[in-house]
Amino acid sequence: MYFSKLYTPTLREVPAEAEVISHKLLVRAGYIRKSSSGVYMYLPLAQRVLQKISAIIREEMNQAGGMELMLPIIQPSELWLESGRWNVYGKELFRLNDRHNREFCLGPTHEEIITDLVRMDVSSYRHLPLMLYQIQNKYRDERRPRFGLLRGREFIMKDLYSFDRDQAGLDESYAIMYEAYTEIFTKCGLDFRPVEADSGAIGGSGSHEFMVIADSGEAAIVYCPACNYAANVEIAPCLPQNSKKDNILPAYKKATPGMTTIEEVAKFLNLPSQKLIKTIFYQADEKIIAVLVRGDRTVNDIKLQRVHPCDNLEMASHEQITSVTGCEAGYVGPVGLCVKDTEVYADLEIKDMVNAVCGANEEGFHLLQVNPGIDFNVTKYEDIRQIEKGEPCPKCGIPLDLARGIEVGQVFKLGTKYSESLKATFLDEKGQENYIIMGCYGIGVSRTMAAAVEQNYDENGIIWPVQIAPYHVVIVPVSVSDQAIWTAALDIYKELSSAGVEVVIDDRDERAGVKFKDADLIGFPIRITVGKKYIESNQVEVKKRIEKEHFNVSRNNILSTVKEIIAR
Ligand code: ATP
Ligand code: MG
Repeated sequence: MYFSKLYTPTLREVPAEAEVISHKLLVRAGYIRKSSSGVYMYLPLAQRVLQKISAIIREEMNQAGGMELMLPIIQPSELWLESGRWNVYGKELFRLNDRHNREFCLGPTHEEIITDLVRMDVSSYRHLPLMLYQIQNKYRDERRPRFGLLRGREFIMKDLYSFDRDQAGLDESYAIMYEAYTEIFTKCGLDFRPVEADSGAIGGSGSHEFMVIADSGEAAIVYCPACNYAANVEIAPCLPQNSKKDNILPAYKKATPGMTTIEEVAKFLNLPSQKLIKTIFYQADEKIIAVLVRGDRTVNDIKLQRVHPCDNLEMASHEQITSVTGCEAGYVGPVGLCVKDTEVYADLEIKDMVNAVCGANEEGFHLLQVNPGIDFNVTKYEDIRQIEKGEPCPKCGIPLDLARGIEVGQVFKLGTKYSESLKATFLDEKGQENYIIMGCYGIGVSRTMAAAVEQNYDENGIIWPVQIAPYHVVIVPVSVSDQAIWTAALDIYKELSSAGVEVVIDDRDERAGVKFKDADLIGFPIRITVGKKYIESNQVEVKKRIEKEHFNVSRNNILSTVKEIIAR
């Protein structure tokens, strides 16, 4: 490919809205352009990267026994009503009507459609197990589309669905996919970690997320430096920490004028925030619920939603809080709440608190020496708080570490959630009808491309892992008007191209410095500079994008040197 023919409009300036590095660099280097919020155009270089990632995925999916198909993006509401997700999915679902006013949605995921397919044609245990997958656009009207390709409203996903006759079959399919995912992200040249995960709106029992480790990641994960335990903080269990019990003392009320935050109250009373009980009110669908955690802890919404299942969980408004407690938000507490018919969920740590402090449900006052079970009761004690760095590993007890990650893939054991609601069954050897056991496995292809950039860049631009780079090599003749140099560069270009190396020759009549800048920004893994040295001693400069220094290679060794770098 001649650089002058390559459609890669580079920019000096970064779009103001670009917050993360992958967004900035992919726009600047001419890989993507925004069409509308969360919807992008993939330019030729991006398309090549996407195709490389897709090729790696296809190879692994096929080898694992998957068969590729293509399902419709437009999906009828009937199927979603049958599965029960038409209403649950809420505003994230792009909905549309046809000319007859029939309702459809643009597929955010394909459990319904694929189950519909399989229930038509799979009827016997002989048809199972089965693995079907596709790579196509998905649509989700995200609340906050941002970070460029990392959170789009239109994005590319590989989704595979497994169909088995029993749990053991599902376990096997799941293990095969887990392995394949590990292989895929390794082949993409990424630093990643599989973590235990919540199965969320898709439903089901077991799940893992594959996280690309990056400081800009939206997900927080905990991992054990000693054993192999790693989990999304959304689900990582908090082990109750045994504390020394003090003697229980009688509660009393104390004026705390103007003290409404945990910090203010703790400072005013000269107590650590661990001695305070934080009372937080939520609107869970139509209901107002109260949640108690220790003053220095945070509530984990995902855990809370497991304890109190609801579709929509939001912080309650000031008015709602006052209507339940009769008092301003800064002075609320658990005493008397349960009596008022409000469900109160308390974190496990609350149960062990002795002589604690909480709001008195009276403006300007807090209660001191409050004890659970004596001064107040709760509906349920559960693990509902967010885990923190240094807490013990649930497997081996060693203090956990925290990291941030970008979720590039997720695998789920669905079980019979969709086969039951959509009635996808098979007959076993005895002629008995059973529900098919399902699993689903997604990879964000466009997000993986962005995640690769988040992990591989420097101040000059992108540093593609060679496996997914749009081209392997850029050849830079320092002057295209110098006939000897140009002819030599072209000769090298031809040799590399015919050996199957993906190569661009920078044929532009530009200064070498400009060409180097563009080469770094775009992120070609290998740069070959043809200049004076070639005329003098038949040598070119080879520079790996990832390294600072170049080295000289004589004409005869260029192909073998390049091949060696690519193969690694
Ligand atoms: P998230 O929690 O980040 O919103 P998710 O858990 O809803 O993602 P899944 O339903 O598991 O996503 O989808 C499978 C994969 O699709 C994800 O692992 C991710 O790589 C990708 N993906 C999901 N949503 C988006 C999006 N809005 N933009 C780009 N990729 C996405
Ligand atoms: Mg997910």
